[in-house]
Amino acid sequence: MDLIKIGEFIAECRKAKGYTQASLAEQLHITNRAVSKWENGHSLPDAAIMLDLCKLLGITVTELLEGEKGMEKNEELLLEMVRQKQAADKRLLQMEIITGVICVLMLLAAVAVASFAPLPEIWRVLIIVAGLIPLLVAMPFLLQIEQTAGYYECQHCKHRYVPTFKAVLMAMHTGRTRYMKCPECGKRSWQKKVLTKE
Ligand SMILES: [Zn+2]
Repeated sequence: MDLIKIGEFIAECRKAKGYTQASLAEQLHITNRAVSKWENGHSLPDAAIMLDLCKLLGITVTELLEGEKGMEKNEELLLEMVRQKQAADKRLLQMEIITGVICVLMLLAAVAVASFAPLPEIWRVLIIVAGLIPLLVAMPFLLQIEQTAGYYECQHCKHRYVPTFKAVLMAMHTGRTRYMKCPECGKRSWQKKVLTKE
């Protein structure tokens, strides 16, 4: 246990609540000196006092003993997770473009070969069908990225959400902007893809 850290934390919480060492001591029926000793890291609050102290400071016993607020730690973790999701979504959306372009180029190459190579009719058809395969295989994955990476924003109420796969599949679209119904306000609009929830 880090007494110095705990002491600094007690002092910080005490000041945040607007107490002096004296007024805190008075409420706990102890001496100023005891409070001063905790804050300087010389001693730990007595177990009998700890609960009352925590109540006055608006913290939990765990937070007191760890010398920091648990909530802030969780919020930081949450923020970090949001940042990581944004970065991952961005990479997914970039990968989607690259994969899409490669598939289309393969199809175009197949069409070019089928059109200009001196081959029997059946081979021309087979080559074009083969050229379509990468696109057909990739399409569900690309659509899934469109659905789950980032959010769509309603133009009316600015609500941001992740639509269902079916809504994404059925929607008219230009690039990444899709014409869909907002689950919040129920209006239809051209909804842009955005990376953040807020
Ligand atoms: Zn809306």
